Formats: sequence, C-alpha cells, structure tokens
Amino acid sequence: MPAPVPFDPQEIVDAKYEERPTREGVTTKRLICAACDIACSVVGEVQKGRVTKIRSSDNPIFKDNICMKGIVAPKGLAHPNRILHPLKRVGERGSGKFEQVTWEEAMSDIGSRLKKIVAEHGPEAWAVSTSQWNTSTDHGLGRRVMNHVGSPNWISGVALCAGNTAAVNRFTYGWFPFGDFSSTNCIVLMGHNPRRHSWTPLYNSIRSAQARGAKLIVMDPRRSSSAERADIWLPLKAGSDAAMMFGWLKVIIDEELYDKEFVANWTIGFEELRERVNEYPLDRVAELTGCDPEMIAEAARVYATSGPSIIPWTPITDMQRNSTSGIRLQTILRSICGYVDVPGGELLQGFNPDIVNESTIEMHHALSDEQKMKQLGSKDHPAFTYRGQLAFREPTKRVYGQEYANLVTGCHMATPSETFKAMAGEGEYPVKAFFFLGNNPLMSYANMPLIHKAMMNQDLIVSHEQFMTPSAQLADYILPADSWLERPWIHDMFGWMSTIRFSEKAMDPPGECKSTFEFWKQVAGALDMPEVVPWDTIEDFYDYRVEATGKSFADLISDTEVYFKKPAFKTYEKTGFATPSGKVELKSSLLEELGFDPLPYFREDPPHDKDYPLKMFTGVREDPFFQTGHRHIPEMRARCPEPQIYLNEKTAKAAGVAEGDWVTVENQLGSVKALLAIKDAMPDDLVRVPHGWWKPEMAQGNGSLSGAWDYSDAQLCRDDPDYLDLEQGIPHLKGIPCRVVPFTSDASADTETKVEHMEPAE
Ligand code: SF4
Repeated sequence: MPAPVPFDPQEIVDAKYEERPTREGVTTKRLICAACDIACSVVGEVQKGRVTKIRSSDNPIFKDNICMKGIVAPKGLAHPNRILHPLKRVGERGSGKFEQVTWEEAMSDIGSRLKKIVAEHGPEAWAVSTSQWNTSTDHGLGRRVMNHVGSPNWISGVALCAGNTAAVNRFTYGWFPFGDFSSTNCIVLMGHNPRRHSWTPLYNSIRSAQARGAKLIVMDPRRSSSAERADIWLPLKAGSDAAMMFGWLKVIIDEELYDKEFVANWTIGFEELRERVNEYPLDRVAELTGCDPEMIAEAARVYATSGPSIIPWTPITDMQRNSTSGIRLQTILRSICGYVDVPGGELLQGFNPDIVNESTIEMHHALSDEQKMKQLGSKDHPAFTYRGQLAFREPTKRVYGQEYANLVTGCHMATPSETFKAMAGEGEYPVKAFFFLGNNPLMSYANMPLIHKAMMNQDLIVSHEQFMTPSAQLADYILPADSWLERPWIHDMFGWMSTIRFSEKAMDPPGECKSTFEFWKQVAGALDMPEVVPWDTIEDFYDYRVEATGKSFADLISDTEVYFKKPAFKTYEKTGFATPSGKVELKSSLLEELGFDPLPYFREDPPHDKDYPLKMFTGVREDPFFQTGHRHIPEMRARCPEPQIYLNEKTAKAAGVAEGDWVTVENQLGSVKALLAIKDAMPDDLVRVPHGWWKPEMAQGNGSLSGAWDYSDAQLCRDDPDYLDLEQGIPHLKGIPCRVVPFTSDASADTETKVEHMEPAE
C-alpha cells in the first residue's frame, strides 16, 4: 500500500517548508522508508558516513508520517547478525552449516547449476519468490530475466495482499483505483485497521478526513481501534465481507440510491446484477454476517448518499475463500454509486508517461505464449495469471498505451500453492530451482509443511537476504542484501499510480551487501545474457527510466520532491474503460470466458467440524513488526516479546485456558503455540493468531528453524479446495476452523524469550 498523497501532488511541491537545522558534522538525506510497505517520505541524518537517525520529512504534507519501525531502522540494520558476505551451504540442506565465499564463486556456481536445471527440465523449472515492497530496487528486473530465460513461475506475497486485488479490479474497470482521502466524504474500512504505528500515513489521512467531517464506516468482527472511532461499526462474522456487500447493494438498488446516469451510460450487466443481488435479501445477509439488518441498511445509505465515498484497499478481503467476489463487489459498489474517477472518489491514474514503468522493464513480450500458458495455477485458478489477464492486453493498450500493466506487480503471477506443489514433486511438472529475494517464503504463504517439503526437494535454492531467516536456513547460497539506507530508489507506487518519488543513497552498504539491481545483473551475466540488464550501475538504469523528463536522475533526485502528471478526471469519457467492452463490466465477460460465474456470489462455509469449534483469523500485523521481519530488534521485541493469541474471556473459559497461559492452536493441518491474552474486543469463538512469528535467537537449521516450527501461523493456513478462492487460488485466512487447548509440554519454559537485556524504545 503506497502512502496516500494529496490528490493534486502540486500541494507537495508548493508546501512551504524549512529544513530543520542540523548539528555540526551531520548531513541530511531525503529518503523513502522501506521498513514496511507504505513508503513514508522521511529524512536520514548522516554522521561520519553512517545514518544515525531517521526523522519525519521536512515537508509539512508528510510531517506526521513516521512510526517506530522507521525510527529504529538504522539500529535494526546495523545489527551484528546482519549477513555481510555471500554464504554457501556446506552441510546437508537445513543443517545450518555455511561457509563464506566470494560473489564471483557464488554466481559462477549458481549460473552453471541453473543452466543445467533449465536444460534438463525446461525453464519453467525455475521459480522465484519476492516482493518489490521489500526489495525496492528490483524494478521488474527479476521478471525481465525470467522472461528471457523462459520461466513464468514468479510468485509473491502480493498474491494475497494487494496484487491480487489489483488484478481483480481490472475485470470490472481495467485498472486499480486509489481513493482520494483528501476530499472524500466517507471512508469504508473492511477489517482494515491502520494505526499510529502501522500504515501510519493511512491512519493520518483517515483522521484528517474525519476531522473535516468525513464519515467512517468500519466492518470488523473485532471492536478495533478504527471501529471505536467509526460512525458506524458493523461487527460482521469473519470472512463474510462479500455477503455484507450484497446487503449494501440490495439496499442501494432497491432504494434507487445509485448513479442512474453512470449506470445507464457506462456499465453493462446491471439487470443481471440486480437479479443476483435479489438473492440476498437483508434477512439472509443478516444471518450470513451476524449483523443487524437495520444497521446494514443504514451503512449502505450513508455510503451511497454522503459520497463521493471511498473503499480503500484492504488486505482482509484479499485473503478469503470469497476474495474474488468480495473484491468485485467493492468495484461494483464504487461503480454504480458513480465514485470512479471523480474528485473525492477513486481515481484511475494510469502510468506516468515520462517514467519508464516497471511493466515495460519486465518485457513480458519476451516470454513466449507457450511458456506463459505453462504458468503454474493458470489452469484451475487463472484470475491473476497470464491466462487470466491475457484479454486485457488490447484494452490496456487502447487506454493506457501498452499491453501489459502489472499493477502492484500482481497481474501476471503463478499461484503460490500450485508452485509449491510442483516444487514438492506433486505438480504438473517439476520445479527444481527456487530463488527468493527479501522474502521468507516458508512462513509467508499457506501450508508451511508443503512449502518445507518443496524446499527440501530443490536442486538449487538461492536467497538474497539481510538476516538468517528460517527460509534462508534451507538455501544453498545466501547472498547479502543492501537496505533502503544504502542505495537510491525510484518509488513509482508499484505501478499503481503515476506519482513518482525519489530516495537518496544515505550511506554505503556494509560488507559485500548488494542491491537487487546488482543481484539480477549478476544473474543475467551468469546465464550468459548480460545484454538483458545492460546498465552498469543503478544510477545508469535510473537515467534510462527518467530520460523523458528531460533531466538526469541526479538532477531529479536533488531538486524534485515528487514527479507527477496533472490529475485528470473521467478520462474514460475519452478512452472508454480498459475492458473488452470499454464499459464497467458489472457482469464480467472475461470471468465468463474463463469458465467462472461472471457475477459475484457467496460460498457459505463448509460443514461444521465439531472437533474444531472455533474460527481463527491470521495475517494481522503487530505494530513493531512488518510481516516476518524485525523480530531481531530489541526495541521491537521488548514491546511484543512473545507471540500472543487473543480470545475473549468466555471463549477462553470454555477452552479451559486463562490469561498468560501458553496455549496451542490446532487444526487439521498443524499447530502453533502462543501466549494467551484476553481481549474484550474479540467476539465469541473467534481466535486471533499472530502472523509471521519466529525467534532469531533460537537454534537454526531443520528441527527448529529458529522457532518457525513452534510459532509460524503458516502451519495453520490451509490450501485444500474448500479453503481456496476459486478464481485466484489464494487461501482463506479469515475464519479457519480450529481449537485452542492448554500447552502441556515441559518445554514451555524454554520457549520464553529472556527480555531482561532489552530496553524499551522510549
Ligand atoms: S509506516 Fe513506519 S515503517 Fe512504514 S514506511 Fe512509514 S515510517 Fe516506515
């Protein structure tokens, strides 16, 4: 999620600000924080060649956008356990035994082993897992190298977080909109709970909107901090987002609260949609969601009548068995209420024409159609694969000037579960080489037992990393990665928006750490295709990307706070929408062609299993951490030393557990242990399982994998058919059956972290 910026970025340029005075010997650099995915503009203070402090930007527009993770980042990155040199595995896979080698030795061996795998099994036998949110300087070069080699099997956490939303939004109106927080009248949060120290700019934008009178509607089973501040809180059952939106549409259509002119002129499929919506009368929706029908109706009326309203992206609807329908219902609400591409609503920005975008850099045309159709997952769950996105090529060229729009990098991916099956030898063909960059795949996708089996079955595993994660412990090579303090960055909002910001290099990388740009350049060289990444340095590469601005990258970065094209509204009136019909497709022609229901629907839960009477949700971030990272930083761990599950008192009592107990959460796939915290804000029978837990201080290598086998929630995340979204093949993480039992092993005491040496951050 990129940070919201003013709808007209000229406000950033015009903002009157004075740089704060610095102490003698201190220089400052304008940076974009990459300690999480929202990319705050911040300032780094540099002393004797090292970043010693991160503070908020001098630009008043960005001044409050900083959280504890950004502030503590220089210390976290200077941690003594940071990987500073290339490491080669010398024991059995997973033995935890590595020796130091040179980059040249590593890349020479990696190149020859990857070439052998490609020759024996085909290029599709090479899979890569990464996320541009974490690596920053990939800029599509990984896809570019893979496309030239011939492998379509790129996976990323964006498959279940924003990238999939972007891909599904295209089915309705051809792009992924971004809400105008600065002048909207109503914000709808669907389980999303931005906080002061988590998605900070989003939190600030919502508070500012509320301060000038915008309404806030929150759907969340929990009484979250956002729910407490909302005008309307709908405490819906976990995983019932799609059913709730059917209820809203029923009210909005029955009461004729929609934008009739827009619907008549710019949409297709309204009558079919109306028929489908009629299958969801409010009493049925109330039963499916557990919410009061009058409240459902009131929220729908507020959304439709006080607009323009926005429904910002939420990771919650991304991660459900009804995800595609849920996301489509969001797009339909936006559309029929007339909120698309208008001020205060949701803008379809397109590419910035002056910056070479990452979709272009990826060179998808270099991958043959035959190889594209081999992409894992594309047969059964094609929504975000090449096959699912194929028919957008012509409309995207018509409206946005090029065939491939890889929005949020999520529009041409393999599905993770199918990829891991292939790696484990259970797929349609073998995958034998696996690279991961800035990514801890063992714990970042569903079904960790399968992913572990898959990794143990590889001939070659390469990791580009800063720390020895549980996944890196299974690699053949670990190559040391730089950080956002140590190289420049062009931040293009992950292909989603046309607003571009820049980050300076503030210090040299330590040891032999290198950027993702250099990693891919070396891989291309090792595969005897150096011409695929022809730029000598990242600065040369950036000069190529910004050439059409008429400035060099060095000039831009020194004198430009933000580079943008002037916002325009209702551009569809000139170009049509980037769909086959040129209209907003309430009934999706492409989903129909792919063999799916072209209208949204709601799949009810599978039959109840009495052995697993509770429902769990996972994926929620804790303020001190980002995904599986940051647990090595004492200031962060002091705030959250152990993984904690949340239950309310009644549910805890029924399970025979109490506040402060170590407990086990179990389901049909696996189990994790955690400390129990009683939270009144939790509804009955719902369990919150924390995401991404391991303990860097615990034993490395197979057996423990630094505690991943004790704590990682991915052991509970199922990917069997009842728990996968049909169109995308992504797992259901919001309402998985489970049970909670007391943790009985004598080893419990050993699992507790000794925190005496950890000092609080403030
Ligand atoms: S919210 Fe915090 S961690 Fe995320 S980008 Fe902003 S300062 Fe960095």
